Amino acid sequence: MSIPLISYKEFEEDPFKDWIPSDETKGAVKVLQWAYDSYKDSIIYACSFGAEGIVLIDLISKIKPNAQVVFLDTGVHFKETYELIDTVKEKYPDLQIQLKQPALTLEEQSKQYGPELWKSQPDLCCYIRKVKPLEEVLHGVPAWISGLRREQSLSRKDIDFVNKDDRFQSIKVCPLIYWTWEDVWAYIRQNHLPYNPLHEKGYPSIGCEPCTSLVTDDRDFRAGRWAGFHKTECGLHTSDNRQN
Ligand code: SF4
Repeated sequence: MSIPLISYKEFEEDPFKDWIPSDETKGAVKVLQWAYDSYKDSIIYACSFGAEGIVLIDLISKIKPNAQVVFLDTGVHFKETYELIDTVKEKYPDLQIQLKQPALTLEEQSKQYGPELWKSQPDLCCYIRKVKPLEEVLHGVPAWISGLRREQSLSRKDIDFVNKDDRFQSIKVCPLIYWTWEDVWAYIRQNHLPYNPLHEKGYPSIGCEPCTSLVTDDRDFRAGRWAGFHKTECGLHTSDNRQN
């Protein structure tokens, strides 16, 4: 299958749309190879360092050892997440891992909008600390990679391998769309990969510490995110989180 490079402006539909992957990575390696062949050094992987993130880091490192990886460092992640990033940096020394911080420090944000903005206006907090920083990173970048999986939530069930991303005016490549939670963990165990120990303590999806709680309903991977708010996404994967 030969698929040409696709730009945001030319995008019509997922070029892998009619392809049913049958390999053991459920298409992930093939899609990543296409992505790095197409976009070379200009594609960026936005990694949250969750379980899917560790799988993608490992798969990407075999295809593009010096790939660009960005982590949105809101300043309020769990210490276990920062420790995992240090471990990953040691295991994959050639990867270019950037910790991208928001323009406002937590103190500046508190002065401007009040303390603990995540409690009063989580959408605004996510915009300042996640969406805007990724917007800055992806400015002029033709494509980025995300670890979204279809089974994660209803809002993600229609994701394709290659997506037109109107939010960031870029192409969003999602190699793991067909992976199940069991696939993710089988890969981590078989390859002896490091992972966030919080996963084994009831946190399937790990984000910022103030907005991540224990999950007791194992049917919903993201139930522990923004518990108590009518919010399940930070705005990176929706087109409606524009605060300005
Ligand atoms: Fe703020 Fe919570 Fe969003 Fe993190 S997840 S940026 S703390 S609202």
